[in-house]
Amino acid sequence: MALVEQQRNKISLLVCNSCYWMSSLLDSSKEVPNCPSCGTTLESLPVENNERCTIEAADTKTGLIVEFQRA
Ligand SMILES: [Zn+2]
Repeated sequence: MALVEQQRNKISLLVCNSCYWMSSLLDSSKEVPNCPSCGTTLESLPVENNERCTIEAADTKTGLIVEFQRA
């Protein structure tokens, strides 16, 4: 039961690969919406409770660099 609840409450990082809109989704049991800026399907990246992510905006060819680190 606790494991099921923990899996439901995982956090996800939502990224639009088209316009780079980003947000966090605090309850991964929720449906991933489309990008509110351009309407493209968002990519969902799971984030563990002990992870932090750093987002770096590179040039327009490379796009975004997302790095995950465990605490
Ligand atoms: Zn977008």
